[in-house]
Amino acid sequence: LSSSQFLSPHFKWSERQSQVLESLAQEFTLSTAQLETLTTEFVRQMHVGLTSTKSKDLAMIPTFVTGRPDGHERGSYLALDLGGTNLRVCLITLKGDRQLEAHQRAFKVSDHLQEADVTELMDFIAISIQEFISSEHISAKIVEHPSDSDTLELGFTFSFPVTQTAIDAGVLLRWTKGFHCPGAVGSDIVQLLQDALNRKKVNVHVAALVNDTVGTLLAHSYKHANTFIGAIFGTGTNGAYVESARNIKTMTTDADEMIINIEWGNFDKDKTVLPVTMHDNKLDRESINPGIHVFEKMISGMYLGEITRNVLLYLIDQRLLFEGTSSPTLNRHWGFETKFMSAIEQDNSSTLIPIAQILEQDLGIYLNTQVDREIVKFVCQLVGKRAARLSAMAVAAVVRQGLKAGTLAEHGYPLKVSANDEVQAKQNGSKVEAVGHGASTKDIIRVGIDGSVFEHYPHFEERMYEALDEILGSSAREVVALGIARDGSGVGAALAALIATKNSAGST
Ligand code: BGC
Ligand code: MG
Repeated sequence: LSSSQFLSPHFKWSERQSQVLESLAQEFTLSTAQLETLTTEFVRQMHVGLTSTKSKDLAMIPTFVTGRPDGHERGSYLALDLGGTNLRVCLITLKGDRQLEAHQRAFKVSDHLQEADVTELMDFIAISIQEFISSEHISAKIVEHPSDSDTLELGFTFSFPVTQTAIDAGVLLRWTKGFHCPGAVGSDIVQLLQDALNRKKVNVHVAALVNDTVGTLLAHSYKHANTFIGAIFGTGTNGAYVESARNIKTMTTDADEMIINIEWGNFDKDKTVLPVTMHDNKLDRESINPGIHVFEKMISGMYLGEITRNVLLYLIDQRLLFEGTSSPTLNRHWGFETKFMSAIEQDNSSTLIPIAQILEQDLGIYLNTQVDREIVKFVCQLVGKRAARLSAMAVAAVVRQGLKAGTLAEHGYPLKVSANDEVQAKQNGSKVEAVGHGASTKDIIRVGIDGSVFEHYPHFEERMYEALDEILGSSAREVVALGIARDGSGVGAALAALIATKNSAGST
């Protein structure tokens, strides 16, 4: 692989710079063959997760969500979305024609709350809900769209790994993404929130708990037929998909299908196939959860800047960048944010002056030559491109799992395996093809995606499609549609509350 692929040819690297940057490029660039190996291993770990109750990398959590919305759903529900620096409280009115109305308010979750005792966090949530529903505007809306009971039903999107025992019960497996509240791991999250609501005398019933990926899948299904996967590429990363109940050996259900929360951030945590570099290992060691979510740490917005910072320091220490000088900001843990990478990758000017501005204003690096700026951009491209290709790999693996034994087709999705001959499928990987000739728009299976990295990182989507083509066949775009489902998890939580209340009404 040659660097000329990335760099405009008129800037010269020294021999030593070329050597080191070439070898960085090699380490960070994933070949088609590597993607194939990773995909195969991902599918294998999915299988382990679906069949074994022992400790496993992919948790493959049954969500107890057994149906998909078709757009006809109606009603008003409260929705809560917690997973990053903001708590969103929403009132969602589903209109039954794939349309909806959403009113929402965001509350900032302070650094203190992210590490405070979980009862303090839950009290904060209860009070935020109270504030939201008692605002005049919202109470008028609630009167306008009354629900069947006096109690408002709420769906809770909680973007952390929860082992569910029902649609409205589940215990936290571990915190991720910088949260660290004592008293939560091993406790029932729904109960913790309901207790806080009761303590604060807020007349709201927690009807459903969903992961953000599940919420995103539900929300995308409400809007588009054939949604198969919900994925997040944001602060953290994860995916959920529709699985045949008969393939889930860790529980029993009467349903035909169930949504599975993969928790793919923890894929291959022992790094048997993941191509981690010393820069990834350094990040992992210095994180608050070493050895956990290693895959997420190569992909998601919380970490990409930090990997890049590690690489830049590595180059500085060899005097290959900025003449060997750093700055207090660049020396600081988390000092280089992923949003700087986005801005740097966006700079296509010939002089790279916008990059100079970031280096100077945001990072305090005043002495930077054009070659320095080229190198910084080069590093961002390596890290950003690897993230997109790994993201695509996860999506491709889930599609492949769906293709196995015709599961997708069985659940009404328009896809079959074209190379279904076992031996051939092994050699080529399973290529996909829409049922019938020439995929039309309606024959596409859809992936609903939310998250700042997918939405804002330059070229992320295009790089994902490139990798999907390599793994799934030459025109993945014709069979798999990556679609943005912005803030889908709020709508998804409302849909989950609807599903849960309809189910319990039916069974009593
Ligand atoms: C969590 C997942 C979540 C993902 C995206 C990960 O850190 O473990 O539960 O879906 O972030 O928010
Ligand atoms: Mg979110």
